[in-house]
Amino acid sequence: MREAADIHAVDEETVTNAREQAAAADRVVVKAGTNSLTDDESRLDRTKIDKLVTDIMDLRADGTEVLLVSSGAIGAGKGRLERSVEETVEETQALSTLGQSHLMRHYTQSFDRYDQKIAQLLLTEDDLSTPERFTNLHNTIETLLDWGVVPVINENDAVATEEVRIGDNDMLSASVAMGVDVDLLVTLTDVGGVYTANPKDDPAAERVEAVGANYDAVQGLVDDTAAETFGGIRTKVERARAVSEHGIPAIIAGSTEPNVLDRIASGDAVGTIFVPVNGEDNE
Ligand code: GLU
Repeated sequence: MREAADIHAVDEETVTNAREQAAAADRVVVKAGTNSLTDDESRLDRTKIDKLVTDIMDLRADGTEVLLVSSGAIGAGKGRLERSVEETVEETQALSTLGQSHLMRHYTQSFDRYDQKIAQLLLTEDDLSTPERFTNLHNTIETLLDWGVVPVINENDAVATEEVRIGDNDMLSASVAMGVDVDLLVTLTDVGGVYTANPKDDPAAERVEAVGANYDAVQGLVDDTAAETFGGIRTKVERARAVSEHGIPAIIAGSTEPNVLDRIASGDAVGTIFVPVNGEDNE
């Protein structure tokens, strides 16, 4: 039996410091998953998109630079095609192109409400692992941020074969966060953080406030409760930990929480924060 104390074991001062560090971030990667952008029929949900964009603009209003890593291309493609497909590799890749342009049209319209310009970057593993490509990517992102543009990043699913696939935007967002030196990674999900059980079917599930010295206990908990082997909460936790080991705080929080990014920027106890490992007291 895992003791509750192990799971909630990060001391208060460490948590406060990490929350303050997150609140002071000048450059943030925000990752939004397909469920946070589409409805039950896999159609892009403009209310959800508008909420995300408004949350991002709360950060922009304080002068914070934001990079958005957005999924939803394949999902939106399914909703847009309006006929059932088997979802072979070819079909999934084609769906991504159908959905990606649709997704960007909605983002453009939504950000236009604030006169905020956005740009699209579609990446594969090669772009992250080949030094010359990565340098170009880094320079492009720096230039866009300098111009006050919000880069919207996704995997280039149309060309990403099994060998060069990143495969999961939790990996992509973490790589971008570590690669372009951001101050905070926020992963928005429809769950709202790391919980002691699945909050969707266990009302007694408690939110884990912080992950640091208790990482092994939290990882064990996630291994016990999460069914999926790829994607889902396990990858989110592993990647958030990798980012925090890089000295960058990472927060997993609920996409439907009111003013979620504004509250993070105020240092509120939203979601689960992964404390930067160099910020802990020899633990
Ligand atoms: N790149 C995929 C898409 O846009 C999403 C991958 C993921 O959900 O992590 O549909």
